Amino acid sequence: MRRLPVLVLLWLFLPLLVAGQAQTRIAIRAGRLIDGRSDKVLENVLIQVEGDKIISVVAGGSAPADVQVVDLGNATVLPGFIDTHTHLLLHGDTTQEEYDAQLLKESIPYRAILAARNAQIALSHGFTAMRDLETERAMYADVDVKKAIANGEVPGPRLQVATRAMTPTGMYPLFHYSWELRLPTGVQYADGAEGVQRAVRGQTMYGADWIKYYSDGRVHFDADDRLRSEVLFTDEEAKAIVEEAHRLGRKVAAHAIGSDGIAAALRAGVDTIEHGDGLTDTQMNEMVRRGVYWVPTVTVGRNLAAGSTDEFWKKTVELQRENFAKARQKGVKTALGTDAGGFDWKRVNQAKEFEYYVEYGMTPMQAIRTGTSVAAELLGWSETAGTVEAGKWADLVAVSGDPLRDIRELQNVKFVMKAGVIFKNELRK
Ligand SMILES: [Zn+2]
Repeated sequence: MRRLPVLVLLWLFLPLLVAGQAQTRIAIRAGRLIDGRSDKVLENVLIQVEGDKIISVVAGGSAPADVQVVDLGNATVLPGFIDTHTHLLLHGDTTQEEYDAQLLKESIPYRAILAARNAQIALSHGFTAMRDLETERAMYADVDVKKAIANGEVPGPRLQVATRAMTPTGMYPLFHYSWELRLPTGVQYADGAEGVQRAVRGQTMYGADWIKYYSDGRVHFDADDRLRSEVLFTDEEAKAIVEEAHRLGRKVAAHAIGSDGIAAALRAGVDTIEHGDGLTDTQMNEMVRRGVYWVPTVTVGRNLAAGSTDEFWKKTVELQRENFAKARQKGVKTALGTDAGGFDWKRVNQAKEFEYYVEYGMTPMQAIRTGTSVAAELLGWSETAGTVEAGKWADLVAVSGDPLRDIRELQNVKFVMKAGVIFKNELRK
């Protein structure tokens, strides 16, 4: 007998090999679907999932006989939520005491354990992806949290992380302790064009997906009621950060609250403006022209204002509310970001941010996009996340009511699927 060539043998057995590796298939019957693209709510839709991907989304439709069907016929299904500004390694820093205690009394391992818990809370609230924007002294522990989640060791959202963030020497806490003590700092200090380049390279080496820096520090209202700020890096340094990050294929997020800090960040060429309370009209126009994203973090601001007797925060919140309406009219790309960790993960649901955006003038559908398709675009994940479509990751949530009628429904997520795996289902009959 002549021996069959190996290739022919492989070809003969290929169907068996493929069948042996068949991926789990699940079909979801959605009573209503907000797919993140259409302006309309789609009724009675069948979403088929294979492995970690969506393979089809069809109106009506019937599931193949051998496929498990998850009945969400009385619910509204949406793409998994995305928060583009969080701090998993922090759990509330409304006061300086609260912040200092975390840095001085809690070890990085302890904080990483809490970060894993926080990631689980976020996922249970429907957040299937997040951009975590600095660890506050916990070094590169965000990279470990991301790794443990990606390896399926602990549940949590898909992560992009920034590691340590940076300011020039002396411009970020801890402050006001005796100079005789060697104390940790919340960010990495870096000075001069070469110094910041080295910091960018080091953070990238240890796993930073994003580079974050503080464009401004102290903020105040001037005589004309403009929100001004003290710019931290020289233009030369800020440009060096952005250029080096971009050269290494990383994007840059700038913390900028006052108009001076925002102006400096835009001059440097950053990709996203964090907070941005003091945005001016000219700056908004420039952001639209250059496609720079705004991440407003209303939730943290509202929490600070509520918990403080300082009029400054109340005034800042009011200014941001006015700017939010202007930015929407001008078409500034706005991505949902909360600054979770700046408030207690256990106490406030991040999805509250959607409610604030509607309160500030967005339609519920626009608000939903900020935390799904627009946020996915900011992360560079438009091809795989942010909408419910064939070919995308099977990251889905469901609520029992109609979020277009009451946006607060999004704070009561009943079903969460990430990468095709059901993490939570309170709609099971
Ligand atoms: Zn933050």
